[in-house]
Amino acid sequence: MRLVVQKFGGTSVANAQRIMAAARRAIRTKQEGNRVIVVVSARGDTTDDLIELAREISEQPPAREMDMLLSTGEQISIALMAMAIQTLGERAISFTGAQVGIVTDSTHTKARIKSISTARMRQALADGQIVIVAGFQGIDENWNITTLGRGGSDTTAVALAAVMKHDAANGEAGASSPGCTDVGCEIYTDVDGVYTTDPRIVPEARKMEFISYDEMLELASVGAGVMHSRSIEFGKKFDVPIQVRSSFSDVEGTWIVPEAEWMRDVVVCGAALGRDEARVSLNGVPDEPGISHRVFAAMADNNIVVDMIAQNVGSNGKAAIGFTVPGDELPNVLTVLRPLVAEWGASIEFDEQVSKVSIVGTGMRTHTGVAERMFAALAAAQVNMKMITTADIKISVLVSRNDGIRALRAVHQAFGLAQPPSALDPRLSAFGQKKPLAESRKTMADSRLTALTQQLASMEDIVVSDVLLATDQGRITIFGLPDQPGCCSRVFQAVAAAGIVVDMIVQNLAGGRTELSFSVPQADLDRALTVTREVVGTLDATTRVAADAGIARLFVHGVGMRTHTGVARLMFGALAQRGINISMINTSEVRISVVVDEARGDEALKCLKEAFHLT
Ligand code: ASP
Ligand code: MG
Repeated sequence: MRLVVQKFGGTSVANAQRIMAAARRAIRTKQEGNRVIVVVSARGDTTDDLIELAREISEQPPAREMDMLLSTGEQISIALMAMAIQTLGERAISFTGAQVGIVTDSTHTKARIKSISTARMRQALADGQIVIVAGFQGIDENWNITTLGRGGSDTTAVALAAVMKHDAANGEAGASSPGCTDVGCEIYTDVDGVYTTDPRIVPEARKMEFISYDEMLELASVGAGVMHSRSIEFGKKFDVPIQVRSSFSDVEGTWIVPEAEWMRDVVVCGAALGRDEARVSLNGVPDEPGISHRVFAAMADNNIVVDMIAQNVGSNGKAAIGFTVPGDELPNVLTVLRPLVAEWGASIEFDEQVSKVSIVGTGMRTHTGVAERMFAALAAAQVNMKMITTADIKISVLVSRNDGIRALRAVHQAFGLAQPPSALDPRLSAFGQKKPLAESRKTMADSRLTALTQQLASMEDIVVSDVLLATDQGRITIFGLPDQPGCCSRVFQAVAAAGIVVDMIVQNLAGGRTELSFSVPQADLDRALTVTREVVGTLDATTRVAADAGIARLFVHGVGMRTHTGVARLMFGALAQRGINISMINTSEVRISVVVDEARGDEALKCLKEAFHLT
C-alpha cells in the first residue's frame, strides 16, 4: 500500500475554511487506498506573531524558551486538523514532534534531526487513522523542545517520508508491506510549483514539471524560497520523490526527483535572486596555510552559514578572502572576525547593499560557455559584478542591490527560461510525457536500502561521498582589473572566442579593484594567457595577468555541504594541519572545491580522504 505524506504550509491552514479543505484532501487520498500522514505548519503568520510576542518581553529571548514558544504554533494546527478530519467522519490522531519521537540535537532554533521513531505512527496507521504530525519541532535527548529553523515543516515532512520508507521495522506493523517502499511526499503551498524564477519579480517565469534534487538544492540555497533546503537533502539522501503543489487547486505541481539523463540537455533550469546579502572581504591577510581555516572555523563555531567564498590568489605574501553571508548575520560576522583581523594586521571591507543572482542547471556539467553567456547578459544590462563564484551546476554573481531585479530579468531572458525546454530543443519533448518520473522510480528501486537504513540513526549527518583530484588544469589570474560593468564579460568573451573552455571562476573585489581567476585546460594555458593579456591591455594598462600551470583542484562531493558549516571546517582544517595552502575556494550545496599547489595535490587528496573517512 502506498504511503503519502502531505504537508500543508502556513497559508494552507490559515483559517477554518482552508483547514477543512486540507482535511478533505487528506481524506480523499486515504479513500483512494493510501495510508496518509499529514504534517502541518503554524497557521498563517502565527510564527512571526510569536516571535513578536517574545520581542515584546526581551531583546534577546533565550533560545530554549523561544523553542517552547514557537512550537505552540504547530500544536494549534495539528489539533484543529485532527478535529476537521474527525468532523468530516474520518479517523485521525494528532501528535507533537516529541510524541512521535523526532529527536534532534540541542541547537535551539536551528536543531537538526538525529532520529525518528516510527512505532507510534505505524501503529496508528495500521489502526486506520490519518496521522497528523506537528512540523518544525522535535525534542533533544534531555526532553527539551527544539525547532528546526524557519520553514522547517518541510524538513519534518520529507524526513517522516524517509523513515517510513526505509525503517527496517517498516514491514512489521504495516505502514507498508515488507519490501514495499512506495512512499511519496506532497508539499502543499500557496504556489502551484517551482518556477524558473520568482514570478512576482519576473512575470514571464514558467512553472517547471520536473527538477532534480541537486538543482532544487542549489536553487533553494540561492534564494528560491519554495522549500526548506534541508528537506531536499533528505529527499535526495533517502530517495523520496517530492511534489510541490498548490493547496488551492488540483493542478499538477513540480516533481523533485533524482537526476535523469534528459536533464543534462537543459543547460539552465532556473535563476534566483538572493536580495539581502552582505559581502565581507578580508584584505591583506597572510597568504599562509591555515588562515582560511581560522576564518571559516570561527564562522562555523558561531553557526553562521557562509555562502559565496572567493579566496584570491595571493601576491606579495598577502591574500584577500571574500565571502557573503545573509545580510542580518553581518553584525555577528564583524564581531567574530575583528580580533582575527587585528591579529593579522589585515582590514575588513564590507558592503550591506548587495544581492546575489544565480543560475542553476544540471546541463552545466556538460555544456560550455554558460558563464560567458550570463556575464554578457549582465554587461548588456549595465550591471557591475562584485563577486563571481562557480560550482558544477551553479554560477553566482554578486551585484549591487539596486541592480538585483534588472540583473535577474536579464539572465532569465538570456537563457530563454520563459519557454519550455522542449520549445528550445526538440530532443526534450520527453518533458510532456511522464518518462522522467518512470526513470526516477527505477533509480529508487535500485538504491542501496541497507546503507540508507543505517543512516537513519543519524539522519542529518553530513554525507560526503567522494573526494577527487584533478591536475589537468592551469589557472589564469588577473590582478587589479577595473571594477566596472563589462570588464569580466570582455575577458570571457575573448577566451571563448579563442575556443578555450573555462571551468572554475572566482572573482573578488578588494580595495576597489577586482581580482579574477579562472581555470582552463593545461594545454590551452599559454593561449589563454596571450588572449587575456591582449584584452586586459585594452581595459587598463596597469592590470597584471599571470598564468600558473601548477595547480591541483580538489573536489569534495556530498549533500548539504554549505548548510553543514562543519564540512568546510573539517576540510580546511585537515589541509591547514598539513601545511597545505589553499589558493582558491568555491562552495555549493553539493560540492566544495579548493585549489592547491600541484606538488601537494596527492598529499591533499590523501589527507581529505582520511578526514572524511573515505579510505
Ligand atoms: N512555522 C514555522 C515557520 O514559519 C515552520 C514552517 O512554517 O515550516 O518558520
Ligand atoms: Mg510558516
